[in-house]
Amino acid sequence: MSRRDDGGGSAEPERVPLRRKPRPEPWYAPGLRFECTACGKCCTNHGEFSCVFANREEREALARHFGLTRNEFEARYCEPVDGGLSFRSQDDACVFLKDGKCSVYALRPAQCRTFPFWPELIASEDSWQRDVASFCPGAGKGPLHGVEEIRAAARRAQL
Ligand code: SF4
Ligand code: SF4
Repeated sequence: MSRRDDGGGSAEPERVPLRRKPRPEPWYAPGLRFECTACGKCCTNHGEFSCVFANREEREALARHFGLTRNEFEARYCEPVDGGLSFRSQDDACVFLKDGKCSVYALRPAQCRTFPFWPELIASEDSWQRDVASFCPGAGKGPLHGVEEIRAAARRAQL
């Protein structure tokens, strides 16, 4: 960066605003390989993972799909968890898992669309290994997902 010269010989140093520190590189900076094999395992309750949260717009879209009002849909398919609404479990899996496949795939909520790039799953390599790679056959396979794509998915997962 240059300094201003007003010709008077009394130029003051230019004020340079402080900049944000660069973010430290996350452990997944080289990217993560992932390709869903549609095995349905992540739609099955495992350990502490048994909730499928959907926001109001997502529940409304599903209600329309079933020809129900949102209240009717929520009464039939949802239950309150931690101040939100989760899809009910049936046979130890999401109520919409039928014959090992998602029966509402086109309308699945952001939580499902963004798996396995949820903030808590990518928080560390340990959490990735423990809560994703240990059971998801798509982890470590397929195309390489870059760090910005992973971060964007993690942000969408929180909406
Ligand atoms: S467990 Fe992994 S491979 Fe299986 S459906 Fe879920 S994301 Fe896809
Ligand atoms: S909505 Fe579909 S993709 Fe999401 S957990 Fe249920 S069955 Fe799986």
